[in-house]
Amino acid sequence: MAGRLSGKSALISGGASGLGEAQATLFAREGATVLVGDLQGDKGNAVVETIRAEGGEAAFIRLDVSDPESWATAVSDAVSRFGKLTTLVNNAGIFHPGGILEETKEGWDRMIAINQTGVFLGMKAAGDALLQSGNAAIVNISSLYGLMGSPNAISYHASKAAVRLMGKAGALEFAKRGIRVNTIFPGQILTPILGDITPEQDAAIKASIPMGTVGDPMDIAYASLYLASDEAKYVSGAELWVDGAWYAGQ
Ligand code: NAD
Repeated sequence: MAGRLSGKSALISGGASGLGEAQATLFAREGATVLVGDLQGDKGNAVVETIRAEGGEAAFIRLDVSDPESWATAVSDAVSRFGKLTTLVNNAGIFHPGGILEETKEGWDRMIAINQTGVFLGMKAAGDALLQSGNAAIVNISSLYGLMGSPNAISYHASKAAVRLMGKAGALEFAKRGIRVNTIFPGQILTPILGDITPEQDAAIKASIPMGTVGDPMDIAYASLYLASDEAKYVSGAELWVDGAWYAGQ
């Protein structure tokens, strides 16, 4: 049966966990071949096994998104393994709290290297292969924290706001060249990135979300599926909030 991503070949950074795992699994179900790129080999290989058990085609590669050589290896692996690269999901990311007075230079540099520079390096490394495919899509995962501030996450806000503008710039750069670039802004989604939260924190998070609940990784995966598919062939430079109406109140 033809899927919504039949004929597509996707590289998904951070595909071993959380939102990346959901996107890898859903993309494969919809007919894409998927290269899961992540630092976490055991978890990444487990995602690949799950996809294969469902009849999909996937492989794992160790990818450090802050390293240009690691990106070059991943892109060439995708092309040699699957014959082409049509789809890049820049999903890998980290979070740590810290306001301006608490954040260290080291913490700032690490956040920017992974969340911001990692997205630039991914688009740069995959660019030629995506152009050669003739019909490509990039989906960048920012955050609602790339649109709005909070008092305790300075470097995360800076990194995710940069992802927003890189999406717009990329959409314009590639508008006539067969690559669409779109950005997803997740609200609060239940994944390991949230860390250990107390029942009180959990209640406070839910109280701040108009729908009254956190999201599921598949909520992001379905948004990404649409933007990666040819159903979105006239959509580029778009910003899709998946956040239980959180941003509607900002
Ligand atoms: P997660 O921690 O479950 O997954 C992140 C993945 O990225 C992990 O598998 C991790 O190993 C990988 N990763 C980290 N550094 C890497 C590196 N240098 N190179 C390659 N891979 C690396 O978290 P998640 O919630 O699935 O996060 C996915 C993306 O969604 C992130 O960019 C995050 O900022 C964004 N996001 C998440 C939420 C949320 O509430 N979960 C909200 C907004 C945005």
